[in-house]
Amino acid sequence: MRILNCKVLLSALVMLCTAHAQVTVVKAGKLIDVDTGTVLTDQVIVIRGDKIAAVGKRLPVPAGANVIDLSKMTVLPGLIDCHTHVADGQNDGEPFNQLRKTASQVVLESVPNARKMLESGFTTVRDVGVYRALNDIALRDAINRGDIPGPRMFVAGAYVTITGGAGAFTGQAPDIKLPWDFHYGEANSPWEVRAVIRKLAHAGVDHIKVLSSGAVLTHGSNPNSQEFTLEELQAAVDEAGHFGLRVAAHAHSPQGIKNALNAGVASIEHATLIDDEGVALAKRRGTYLDMDIYDDECIQANKNMPKDFLEHDAELGAAQRENFRKAVKAGAKMAFGTDAGVCAYGTSGKQFAFMVKYGMTPMQAIQSATSNAADLLGKSNLLGAVKPGRYADLVAVEGDPLADVSLLENVRFVMKDGKVYKQ
Ligand SMILES: [Zn+2]
Repeated sequence: MRILNCKVLLSALVMLCTAHAQVTVVKAGKLIDVDTGTVLTDQVIVIRGDKIAAVGKRLPVPAGANVIDLSKMTVLPGLIDCHTHVADGQNDGEPFNQLRKTASQVVLESVPNARKMLESGFTTVRDVGVYRALNDIALRDAINRGDIPGPRMFVAGAYVTITGGAGAFTGQAPDIKLPWDFHYGEANSPWEVRAVIRKLAHAGVDHIKVLSSGAVLTHGSNPNSQEFTLEELQAAVDEAGHFGLRVAAHAHSPQGIKNALNAGVASIEHATLIDDEGVALAKRRGTYLDMDIYDDECIQANKNMPKDFLEHDAELGAAQRENFRKAVKAGAKMAFGTDAGVCAYGTSGKQFAFMVKYGMTPMQAIQSATSNAADLLGKSNLLGAVKPGRYADLVAVEGDPLADVSLLENVRFVMKDGKVYKQ
């Protein structure tokens, strides 16, 4: 009886709160329905508080609602970048410059990065590693408190990497002792991998980032190598699963990719040299490929980029784009990720045109950054579509992005959690 009374009281409270939540109505001339891959016209989106309450053609506008007229625009769900490094401060390409700053400087430098991501239409990011461990948690929490504007962040806390590996801070003399946060995620056995993941889970991360091959932007690294063994990757997926966390695996080399796929990770980051066997395996297992095919432009154009990084990249950029085309054609699951930080923050939208150039339809490219990205995050019930119950994350562009996907480089309207950040 007492439980019943509590339930009645609770639902009355919920009704009261809902009744008092700010009501906003967005009139969308065109609305991209990413779930069905269609375009709806003359839609009315009713928003209560931070969630979408109703969507439909010419719905009545509730009394007292704040009306936003986007009837001459195309509205889409807020965009999601699944591979960012927003919390790395001002990143000019040379990791050694991180040693010139305190961790506090780096995270404060990241404040404009977060604002630029949001204002460019990316209302959610999956941040996949930081030089200074746990800076990303501080940034995420500041945004969630409303202290600073930024995208909804899902964060990794640190790179889980072998010593001297792709996620390690490398290139310094052996007698230089680094601060704790530069090597927080180093692990060299299945049990060390588990120990690091336990620390990260306790610190409050949203997912785990492991490095399964060498990297382009790490001194002394070989992108063609394998780093963690299959056994270590399996330990990572198993241990992360104990805390309800998914694993993203950085992998360029064909075997590094297949090891991570066989271990059961949720996504392969970069997937640069994925071979036919790897594409088939990703498809069979339903693993997302998160291929950052735009950032080669920024690596080659960056005058500060260290020479060894340029050499790594020169061999890989073209191969990655052709392998992206192959994976799209084969029907592998694709998520949108740019490695933001390599290209300037706020320019992630430039990748859409490259995805279309290398084999996607504009709708597929948009889905990769909305419904697919939300699925990869395990948040399809809250993100990635303009549907009742989802967070009111909306962007709008002038014109038809299905005819010209590069319009997404110039988003005119941004709403996150029902709050307008750009109009
Ligand atoms: Zn990255």
